[in-house]
Amino acid sequence: MKKLLEVKNLTKTFPVNGGFLKKSKKLTAVDGISFDVMEGETLCLVGESGCGKSTLGRCILQIIKPTSGEVIFDGVDLCKLDEKKMRPYRQYLQMIFQDPYASLNPRMTIRELIGAPVHAFKLAATSDELDEKIREVCKVVGISEDWLNKYPHEFSGGQRQRIVIARALIMNPRFIVCDEPVSALDVSIRSQVLNLMKDLQEQFKFSYLFVSHDLSVVNYIGDRIAVMYLGEFVELATKRELFNNPSHPYTQALLSAIPVADVNYKRERTYLEGEVPSPVNPPSGCRFRTRCRYASDVCKSKRPELKLVGEDHFAACHMCGKITK
Ligand code: SF4
Ligand code: MG
Repeated sequence: MKKLLEVKNLTKTFPVNGGFLKKSKKLTAVDGISFDVMEGETLCLVGESGCGKSTLGRCILQIIKPTSGEVIFDGVDLCKLDEKKMRPYRQYLQMIFQDPYASLNPRMTIRELIGAPVHAFKLAATSDELDEKIREVCKVVGISEDWLNKYPHEFSGGQRQRIVIARALIMNPRFIVCDEPVSALDVSIRSQVLNLMKDLQEQFKFSYLFVSHDLSVVNYIGDRIAVMYLGEFVELATKRELFNNPSHPYTQALLSAIPVADVNYKRERTYLEGEVPSPVNPPSGCRFRTRCRYASDVCKSKRPELKLVGEDHFAACHMCGKITK
């Protein structure tokens, strides 16, 4: 597979008001993350809420500007571009948000909503051509032409997410960041939307960065999975490796929390102790050490780096290879 996108040392900090007479501090939401996204792959980001998944997705798309680091797309570092120079790339880099209720303007018809980005980017010369494009994309995502003159409130959550997908797809995207795209939907229609997303990827060969906290969704849609904790990647592996052979204690704990349908199946559960520490004042050394049952002295003083622990499998833990599960 060819590389589509390269993320190097990406960091995003936000200033936090320290309060009256206190020094202002900074919150590091994404801390020096590096990885590649291949053409046609789905890379999933998992982790508890507040770990920086959404911020990372938005930084890659330059919806929020990263503090430092690089995002290389087509040989160009997007972080160095001002908004005007960034604009031609925006067509190919799309985003699907969690809440299809909030991301569709209630005053626009479905036709206007789907056609708006084509119009804004002048991708259709005439209104007939625009209409043709809208009809084509509707066919592909399973939207009936009768929908086109209606408004978002006339549709269910699943239907609205289809409209959101059509609006991204009409731009011929090459990379789509999906931020929890099915978590606001009823369980019964989640798989329909996920199947649609998979089929479209097969047909059009774009890549997804798929943000989710739901490991069963990730297991269904992902090719590779990155596990995030307090702004860092703690593990990055193919789906098979991650689920069969989780190396990082945090990943092990997350996986052991997935409910299992078979009541006769006994599995040791690794409980996560304590709360996620504040990203304003993260622990020294390994950030996971305050909740890790394997923590030792070295974990306090030395920050573990991501290193190869198996085929296409990286983990950031001093004890990797030494922990017996
Ligand atoms: Fe636990 Fe130490 Fe590994 Fe961190 S480096 S996950 S504290 S064993
Ligand atoms: Mg989020």
